[in-house]
Amino acid sequence: MAEKKVVVIGAGIGGLTAALELGHLGLDVTVIERGAVAGGKVAAEWVNGQPIDSGPTVFTMRWVFDELLDSVGLRLDRELKLKPLNTLARHFWADGSALDLHADPLASEAAIEAFAGAQEAENFRKFCDTTRALYGVMDAAFIRAQRQNLPSFMASLGPRGLALLTRIGPMKTLWSSLQTQFTDPRLRQLFARYATYCGSSPWQAPATLSLIAQVEMDGVWSVEGGMVELAQCLTRLCQQVGVRFRFQTHCEHISVKNGKVAGVQLSTQEQLPADRVIFNGDAAALRQGLLGAPAQKAVAATPAPRSLSAVTWALHAKTQGLALDRHNLFFWPDYASEFQDIFERQQLPKQPTVYLCAQDRQDQQAPAGPERLLCLVNAPATGDQQALSDQSLAQCEAQCLTLMQQCGLSLELTPHNHVVSTPQKFHHRFPATGGALYGQATHGWMSIFSRPGAQSAVPGLYLSGGSVHPGPGVPMAAMSGRLAAAAVRASLGLTKTFPVGATSGGMSTP
Ligand SMILES: Cc1cc2nc3c(=O)[nH]c(=O)nc-3n(C[C@H](O)[C@H](O)[C@H](O)COP(=O)(O)OP(=O)(O)OC[C@H]3O[C@@H](n4cnc5c(N)ncnc54)[C@H](O)[C@@H]3O)c2cc1C
Repeated sequence: MAEKKVVVIGAGIGGLTAALELGHLGLDVTVIERGAVAGGKVAAEWVNGQPIDSGPTVFTMRWVFDELLDSVGLRLDRELKLKPLNTLARHFWADGSALDLHADPLASEAAIEAFAGAQEAENFRKFCDTTRALYGVMDAAFIRAQRQNLPSFMASLGPRGLALLTRIGPMKTLWSSLQTQFTDPRLRQLFARYATYCGSSPWQAPATLSLIAQVEMDGVWSVEGGMVELAQCLTRLCQQVGVRFRFQTHCEHISVKNGKVAGVQLSTQEQLPADRVIFNGDAAALRQGLLGAPAQKAVAATPAPRSLSAVTWALHAKTQGLALDRHNLFFWPDYASEFQDIFERQQLPKQPTVYLCAQDRQDQQAPAGPERLLCLVNAPATGDQQALSDQSLAQCEAQCLTLMQQCGLSLELTPHNHVVSTPQKFHHRFPATGGALYGQATHGWMSIFSRPGAQSAVPGLYLSGGSVHPGPGVPMAAMSGRLAAAAVRASLGLTKTFPVGATSGGMSTP
């Protein structure tokens, strides 16, 4: 099988995962990456000589990586040092209230009772029962499965799954569903925010996205050395099985001959022959013809609404006044206005929810002196349109500082202690996206079926990454890479594996 050549375009998590599995099978795999290092969105900014994780910071669903490494005969805990967090996230409101969610559900229940009363604690328990059951059902029927259409999805759900989905109300939005499950507006806001993990508005995302809350409640880990260590670990394992990497090399064209993929053309003008190509960039790049006209046919021609972008500040700064945890959220009272600003007015939110990752903290330990922080707010994916004005960026920054100050936190922001990333910068790094970080928005109940799957309409061309099924986020992008590898294996007659799935499993079906 060594003569079969596979080219993977993009060393994001979905590309690395596919390369690892196919390299392990003995295929001749080359990864082409336009950046200087692997990881894609998993990346660090250097500030004052300190590496600050400036992409994903919340590591969940570790079972995806446990299973991936199992599948290539390795163990995750021997390759990467992960520590489970006791506190999942600390939430602050401008009125001075605060709530921790914990890895221990009983501790979360007790915290919610103290925060909002016994009835809301009971509501939380019921909410968790539903999201746990939902995650169990979606695990096999959606997350591990190749992309399905509605009828095949319904069939794979089975009677119990269908009954559960009917009870949740698939046509309800996440926000309307939370209205009936919690009475405290702060809890509605907290659980609605999970829609933003796949770049969507709670007012347009389907109620089924509540399962993301369960993903987090199932556990959050910190990675020793930062999230970039995950990308480095996968790169090292790829190299151990013979995968070759070409960094700082842009793939300009995917060639198709006699109706199937024949190879790729690089920015160096080299042509690399390939029997199979996996594209790990955003599917929008194919749609826009950035990889040539033949590859344009790989995805549906109609563009889908873009997911959220972000403005981030990678900071090395002193904090004062508030006991931060590792993952911190700061909320304004008018949550709806954030999504109206972003999705309707296409402007930076006037009341942005602020996420602050205090990366040197693990369950409360505060470092002495300046610490490494990532501050993130949601933004419209308009990075290929007008640049954000300095004034709107300064206003947004001031609003973030004001909110944190109202919650009790002072943060020292100087011209030299931070690096800002905007939708323009993200668009430049991830072509065709406008800075959208999660592919298309999951808006409307049918949207989960409209992401492209691993197998494209062009024979020999496969897709992986956060813009394709099963969706964005580090573990889901890894799952998409596994699905792409499974589809390539199947096309070469090397597998029986549909869906991807293994032995250990993330959730047991209730
Ligand atoms: C600020 C931020 C915060 C986030 N927070 C979280 C979080 O806390 N938890 C979480 O799970 N997820 C989070 N995410 C989302 C998560 O990072 C992504 O969903 C995931 O990493 C995407 O992986 P991917 O496989 O799609 O590849 P990407 O990361 O999109 O990488 C694609 C790669 O392809 C390369 N490429 C594209 N086109 C070409 C070409 N023509 N030639 C050569 N190379 C090309 C790019 O340079 C890039 O390296 C966050 C993302 C960002 C940006």
